[in-house]
Amino acid sequence: MASHDETSAEDRLIARHFAPLATHPGALGLTDDAAFITPPPGSEIVLKADAIIGGVHFFPEDDAATVAQKALRVNLSDLASKGATPLGYLLSLALPKDIGEAWLARFAQGLREDAERYGCPLFGGDTDRTPGPITISIAMVGSVPAGTMVRRAGAKPGDLVFVSGSVGDSTLGLVLRKGLDVPLSEAQRQHLASRYLLPQPRNALAEAVRMHASASMDVSDGLAGDFAKLCRVSQVGAEVEAARVPLSDAARAVVAADPKLLLTALSGGDDYEIVCTVPPTKAAGFRAAAEAAGVPVSEIGRVIAGQGARFLGADGQPLVFERASFSHF
Ligand SMILES: [Mg+2]
Repeated sequence: MASHDETSAEDRLIARHFAPLATHPGALGLTDDAAFITPPPGSEIVLKADAIIGGVHFFPEDDAATVAQKALRVNLSDLASKGATPLGYLLSLALPKDIGEAWLARFAQGLREDAERYGCPLFGGDTDRTPGPITISIAMVGSVPAGTMVRRAGAKPGDLVFVSGSVGDSTLGLVLRKGLDVPLSEAQRQHLASRYLLPQPRNALAEAVRMHASASMDVSDGLAGDFAKLCRVSQVGAEVEAARVPLSDAARAVVAADPKLLLTALSGGDDYEIVCTVPPTKAAGFRAAAEAAGVPVSEIGRVIAGQGARFLGADGQPLVFERASFSHF
């Protein structure tokens, strides 16, 4: 508890590290109990919360700036997949006792860089000490023109299935970090490791998704399982050709060395790509908009009537996943 005439340690910590990030006028420099925003005219607010926990979603020894950016970016990725533009975020931090000034300074630096990169200032939040692992909870606020948030529901038979970027790098990076021995170049190793450490959310693709996709979600828990969720909510089936799913050179090298890791690549987590369905009449427009946005997209399959998202192997038979996506429970 602070005495009446002096600021508390928490107040000082907020003033030093976090107030400079609260650049939105409605955040009131983090001096008030709450913040306020005026939604852009004609828009709806899009809300998302996601937390990352030391020892679960990142290694406690990882650079604090990278940890901060991962916490922000997993939320930014969800907004991107909904076609939304970020407005800002709330941050709740639970810090073990051994987290000190140097860590917080790096952490705030990471947030500052991404606030500029993605246009998402800090609106407010909360800081506590915890006897447990470090926990970083972000609640992100975004906006879309009213009625245009792209949902998981909405895919129709005949729609084409697209995925951005490449899939599997992050989970293969984690497998390597845990000690898998595969002959790779240093550059390939680096590529996979960095994809695990730091997501590259596809916010540049948000508008293309909003204008063209019938359904969309981000790939955070593995392509196979996540896309199956989209199909379930849309009440459709789908056939995806595994050979058309984009893999990086590094991921291809890993799969060449150990072919069963293809299943890991398709069902592992932390891709932070976007999987979406696009009506055939809009496919050319989607491709052009993605190219204009500088985000590679690949057509990987087609929505069909029925149930279940099947991933077909080279022999045309459905692949069988031990576990189609990551689950915390
Ligand atoms: Mg998501």
